[in-house]
Amino acid sequence: MLRPPIKHCRQCGTPVQYRIPDDGDTRERAVCPACGTIHYVNPLLVVGTVPYLGERVLLCQRAIEPRWGKWTLPAGFMELDESMAQGAARETAEEAGAQIEMGPFFSAMSIPRIGQVHVFYLARLLSEHFDPGPESAQVHLFTEDEVPWDELAFTAVRRTLECFFADRRRGQFGVHDFDIA
Ligand code: ZN
Repeated sequence: MLRPPIKHCRQCGTPVQYRIPDDGDTRERAVCPACGTIHYVNPLLVVGTVPYLGERVLLCQRAIEPRWGKWTLPAGFMELDESMAQGAARETAEEAGAQIEMGPFFSAMSIPRIGQVHVFYLARLLSEHFDPGPESAQVHLFTEDEVPWDELAFTAVRRTLECFFADRRRGQFGVHDFDIA
């Protein structure tokens, strides 16, 4: 789902009008009739990891909406003061409490329908001790056969896991970039 539309100017609180700005822009934006502020809304970046130990991958069972009870890779919205890899490592610590060694960039998925881009890094697990955060009901290591493929929270997670296990069988990890309708 896309974010709810802007109703009031972030600068002065006046109700905004939706129109194409006069500066050569081609899209309708929320424009403030009082102070002239144009509110641009751009895609959000979700950053996460594929934490693995041998042939097993760590998944978190969500204890929050959306997709409560479904399984996911640790990931969340990138913050303003961090790099993609830093955000991915932070989310992995927050949601799984996992000890990891960050690896290379692995996958990027554009999801225009919801205005998000999801990116994942490989991360080698350094121990099997986990400490799930409040957003996770539990964390667990799964082989490819054990992954709850029908209980995954997001298409981006499923596609990333498919790439991970395919690359692992091939003996070489690549970089994957695709669009999700
Ligand atoms: Zn304003």
